[in-house]
Amino acid sequence: MLKLDAGDITHLAVDAIVNAANKSLLGGGGVDGAIHRAAGPELLEACKKLNGCETGQAKVTQGYNLPARFVIHTVGPVWKGGDHGEAELLKSCYQESLKLAVEHDIRSIAFPCISTGVYRYPKQEAASIAVSSCKNFLQSRGVELDITFCCFGDDDLDIYRQLLNS
Ligand code: ADP
Repeated sequence: MLKLDAGDITHLAVDAIVNAANKSLLGGGGVDGAIHRAAGPELLEACKKLNGCETGQAKVTQGYNLPARFVIHTVGPVWKGGDHGEAELLKSCYQESLKLAVEHDIRSIAFPCISTGVYRYPKQEAASIAVSSCKNFLQSRGVELDITFCCFGDDDLDIYRQLLNS
């Protein structure tokens, strides 16, 4: 099932939240910074052992002080105009995160709007990819998973609301 929520992803009591990380996995600004602050220093220690992550891939840690049991760290593409494989890479972020969720018996997962902050992916295109990738994953795998799109701003909330109602 696909759901919408608004506000800070670190407050969500789901099995896993997804982090829009950078390739180092050693913390950053935006949602990454918020997740590390809320999870506490053990998260950084766990991330140091992961050896980074390629764009479009995903890795998992525990959630430590978060209400969420797991954090799935994925690295979205930096928007470079759209002809550098950005769409495929963004789709891969959602797919790889969901694969890890299934492997870890996760039943509820929340995604931030990956790549749409400092990585500048256009919000409407990113949201279309997010929704279609998640829908396709659920349909093709036949898995029961609650997927929440966590919108941090009203613009994203409007975009996702329209997509989920259509
Ligand atoms: P990226 O580098 O992938 O663009 P950012 O963290 O800069 O990552 O932004 C990704 C999205 O996360 C943006 O839509 C931003 O508004 C949103 N965001 C920032 N902080 C939070 C938070 N605490 N909870 C949920 N979403 C957040």
